[in-house]
Amino acid sequence: MLSRCKFFNKMIDFRSDTFTRPGPGMLQAMLQAETGDDVFGEDPSINKLEAMMADYFGKAAALYCPSGTMSNQIAIKVHTLPGDEVVCSNLAHVYIYEGGGIAFNSGAQVHPVIGDRGMIRAAQVEAAINPDDVHKARTSLVCLENTSNRGGGCCYDWEEMVKIGDVCKQHGLSLHLDGARLFNALVATGQDPKTYGQLFDSISVCLNKGMGCPMGSVLMGSEAFIKSARRIRKKFGGGLRQAGYMAATGIYAMENNIARLAEDHLHAKQLAQALLEKSFVGHMLPVETNILIFEVTGDWTPQLFADYMKKEGVLVMAISTTQVRIVTHLDVTADMIATTCDIIAGMA
Ligand SMILES: *Cc1c(COP(=O)(O)O)cnc(C)c1O
Repeated sequence: MLSRCKFFNKMIDFRSDTFTRPGPGMLQAMLQAETGDDVFGEDPSINKLEAMMADYFGKAAALYCPSGTMSNQIAIKVHTLPGDEVVCSNLAHVYIYEGGGIAFNSGAQVHPVIGDRGMIRAAQVEAAINPDDVHKARTSLVCLENTSNRGGGCCYDWEEMVKIGDVCKQHGLSLHLDGARLFNALVATGQDPKTYGQLFDSISVCLNKGMGCPMGSVLMGSEAFIKSARRIRKKFGGGLRQAGYMAATGIYAMENNIARLAEDHLHAKQLAQALLEKSFVGHMLPVETNILIFEVTGDWTPQLFADYMKKEGVLVMAISTTQVRIVTHLDVTADMIATTCDIIAGMA
């Protein structure tokens, strides 16, 4: 394919922050990892990562999992019984992007709430809780997502999350945070991660997104919660052996890749600025972190836009019949942003 891209014939890949590859430092960390059998609790690298993450969020314990989906699904399984109802946004990843996992793995159902960009409010949560009535499913869990993926990487209002926490306490519900991109939110807002540990019963974070690891997620919670989660992880087939080689990438990312997320956020804002100059770019969700979601109008459809960009050496994703998504990450350099802005500027 003919491409104007000057980056060693590599495409500039904005499809997702999951497309990063480990660099030399991370690969070195893998090679030097001490490992053991984690199903027996004997992998020093996994134990170190779990302790590090629990401490970072001020939680008692943590569990290394192969993916964010597995972390979320394990949390939901531990917090619910079959027939229960989970309250979350209609745009929540746990609801729309995990293959119907809530029904499949936990036998629970979802009470989807229409919020603003995937963020729901305390009053809506309260209204969604079922009364103690045999006709109704038992409401047992509320799931929030920060940043919100389908909401364009927006950061949840802290006060609203605290209010939701209060509602959960009053009604005896568990509160789980899908924090696949929680590090992006922490860097964007400057919040203390330990406040999240205080508010949520459980938190999942992804290492395979902005943190740049090839795989992995960590689930945090109380000792009792993580003990149950460890059993469920085994049942789900997620008990790994010498996965310390992978956990070492997580330790490396915790030490090297958090603060630099600010660069991804800046890159996203620069792309947004270039796009908003164009008359064919319609409504764009506010750009708060590393995700841009915008409508294309006139002669352009999201697919035509993605096809055009691909010919120019840039990969973006058409995520609906009206919207395009661009995600910045570790493997996108300032040069690549400048090149992409030039390509956008040249479009009619
Ligand atoms: C990517 C993502 C997940 C799941 O992560 P995987 O590791 O890809 O399974 C969960 N929640 C949100 C919001 C995500 O963006």
